[in-house]
Amino acid sequence: VAELVKSIARTTDLVDTYVPGHRTCAGCGPALGYRLVAKAAGKNTIFIGPTGCMYVANTSYACGPWAVPWTHAQITNGGAVASGIAEAFRMMIKKGKIQDEYPNIIVMAGDGGCSDIGLQAMSAMFYRGHKVLCVMYDNESYANTGIQVSPSTPYGATTMFTPAGPAIPEAKKHHMKDPMPIFCAGGHPYLKYGATASIAHPIDLMNKVRKGLAQDGPAFIHLHVPCPKGWSFPAERTIEIAKLAIETGMWNLYEVENGDWANKKFGAMPKKLRPVDEYLQTQKRFAHLQPEHVAEIQNFVNNRAKMLGMEVPLPPAK
Ligand code: SF4
Ligand code: MG
Repeated sequence: VAELVKSIARTTDLVDTYVPGHRTCAGCGPALGYRLVAKAAGKNTIFIGPTGCMYVANTSYACGPWAVPWTHAQITNGGAVASGIAEAFRMMIKKGKIQDEYPNIIVMAGDGGCSDIGLQAMSAMFYRGHKVLCVMYDNESYANTGIQVSPSTPYGATTMFTPAGPAIPEAKKHHMKDPMPIFCAGGHPYLKYGATASIAHPIDLMNKVRKGLAQDGPAFIHLHVPCPKGWSFPAERTIEIAKLAIETGMWNLYEVENGDWANKKFGAMPKKLRPVDEYLQTQKRFAHLQPEHVAEIQNFVNNRAKMLGMEVPLPPAK
């Protein structure tokens, strides 16, 4: 409790550097996530924005909602652009060419820009050990181009490229790719810190941002951000759905320090997981699912909870 009170006290001193004026949809989870990340990082921050909703919807008509420096990167090369900026600062400070403090360098990449099209550059950035925080804001689709499937899209969700029909009644056939074990289970030796986070737990998210930025090397945060347009739910339910994801095990909060995957620390954990159906029913992208598809998702969620080592009672597998 004392830690929480200290965190809240620190938070009230902060200023917003993600400010009004963007054009994201009402209830946009990624926009709220961006605001919290920017607030936690503070003024001495540079953002890199590979193509995604948080580039496209934020920069229409040559305006941007950042009160700190921001640059666009291609969807493929957010990690490379961030690496270049990090090394330029490191060398200029080392050679005494500038007197500045090393800035917070944050690449805000979507699921496509981080774990799919942008994976190579991001992995290389982690591998080389640049002092950069990568926040993967995961809205589970390529949203800015009209909600196309991505590897983060859950099994059973409809997208523009995965409609439900007689041949494939479940819509998306594959379960999601998980970037946390890819990046943080020891495969990137210089990646010092990895965490999952949610906009339903803003103080936890902001503390993880600060922790990531305090590392002497790269850090990664996988941020769950519901998308009303892509997931088809009313704009006012964004936070409720983010919370329900955690309560049903569709999203799990944990941290991995120094690559110690075996000793990950769990965050807010429900006393027992609620059935996934309660989450699926809140979104029209899952409206077509039959009981066997829901059972498939329940089994996936139960297995993932076991794989992560979550000590929580699970709903019955089907
Ligand atoms: Fe936000 Fe989704 Fe709209 Fe993109 S499509 S701006 S992520 S709500
Ligand atoms: Mg996306």
